[in-house]
Amino acid sequence: MKKLNMRPSRLNGAHKKLADHLVSMHQIVLPYDKLPPYTYAQLKKGPLCAVCHSLKTIVVDRKLVCTICRHEELLDHAILRSVEELKLLFPDIKITTVLVHDWFQVVDSMKTIRRVLVQNYSAVGKKEYSFFKLK
Ligand SMILES: [Zn+2]
Repeated sequence: MKKLNMRPSRLNGAHKKLADHLVSMHQIVLPYDKLPPYTYAQLKKGPLCAVCHSLKTIVVDRKLVCTICRHEELLDHAILRSVEELKLLFPDIKITTVLVHDWFQVVDSMKTIRRVLVQNYSAVGKKEYSFFKLK
C-alpha cells in the first residue's frame, strides 16, 4: 500500500479523454423527466391495487379489495396512498376533501375522506375551503 501511495499520479492524455467523455455523457435532462403531458381530467380515477396496480378495486368492510388479485388493504391506508399518488402526479395541486373524494371514487362518504385527511395532514384555511399539507 505504501509503495502504491508513493507512486506519483500523473494525468495523461487518456485521463483527459476519459474526463471529456464523461462530461459529454452527462445528462442534464433525465429520461425520467420526459413524462407525456397529462391533465387531471384525462386520467382514470379510482384507487389502484397496491400489488397488481389494477383499477378494479372495491370497498368491502372498510378495506379496499382488488377484484383481480384479491389483495386487501385498510381503507384509510389506501386513501392516503391515493393522496400521495395525486401529489406525485400534480405537485402543485391543493389537496382538498372534494378533490380526494373525486380522485378516489369508490368511497361515497365525504366524511370518511375528510376524517382521513384531518388525521394525517394539517388543514389550512376554513372548513369548506380548506386544503391539506403534510404534518
Ligand atoms: Zn390487485
